[in-house]
Amino acid sequence: MSPHPNPPDAGRPFAGLTALVTGGASGIGLATATLLSERGARVACLDLNPEVPEPLLGLAADVTDDASVRRAVSAAAEALGGVDILVNNAGIGAAGTIEDNPDEEWHRVLDVNLLGVVRVTRAALPWLRRSSAAAIVNTCSVAATTGLPDRALYSATKGALLALTRATAADLLPQGIRVNCVNPGTVDTPWVGRLLAAADDPAAERAALEARQPTGRLVAAVEVAEAIAQLAGPGAGAVTGTALPVDGGMHSLRLRTP
Ligand code: NAD
Repeated sequence: MSPHPNPPDAGRPFAGLTALVTGGASGIGLATATLLSERGARVACLDLNPEVPEPLLGLAADVTDDASVRRAVSAAAEALGGVDILVNNAGIGAAGTIEDNPDEEWHRVLDVNLLGVVRVTRAALPWLRRSSAAAIVNTCSVAATTGLPDRALYSATKGALLALTRATAADLLPQGIRVNCVNPGTVDTPWVGRLLAAADDPAAERAALEARQPTGRLVAAVEVAEAIAQLAGPGAGAVTGTALPVDGGMHSLRLRTP
């Protein structure tokens, strides 16, 4: 938590630090794990899919299963030698208005997108408390602040995660742990690839998603990874309880899908 005006190794600001990234086998999580590793961190990816490229450590974990989370977090902390940075990134989507999903679907998506973050954070806290550079970054969404049409359930899960981020930042500040989140717009990941593949006209759907962002293009996964790394790193020692939009201007310029 102390300021680092002159980090010892500017090219590898995460040298000597360890990181856990949930949902680290794909998309934003894989890009983040890779970037943190390239910048010096020892990184474990906790995912349903444990297959990740070296030198990342892949561990099978389901964030909806508390025992699985506790096992994987302990195994990661022991293998890496602690936990300094936690990136809560695992998440799933859900289409529909408030009328379209039964209660079971609300519970299923909340279980991953909100309670998954609660479970992993609880399991990692004993290690984070021992770190002098402890930081948590949650992957939230622009949906948390704007709400997205035909995404009532998904938007609600991310809105709750934004509030959880701020409340947890207040609770953990006295313990020297910073908590922030990123709010991506539409990011070019396998998730969006699946969405496009299922569309009647994938090219038209992609064009519509691109047009929704004032920059006129999808966000690259590595651009979200850069924002996460910034919030997680020693240079952000004075930043906590914030939400950083990485959305091509969707939130700040107040544009919405018609
Ligand atoms: P992705 O589908 O490419 O990757 C998600 C990863 O999470 C996968 O590897 C998957 O196996 C893992 N995962 C899913 N459920 C899990 C569970 N129960 N336990 C453990 N791991 C699980 O998705 P992405 O686009 O990289 O999205 C990552 C995060 O970014 C999500 O939280 C998503 O809500 C958020 N986000 C994505 C976009 C976007 O446009 N892609 C925009 C805003 C926010």
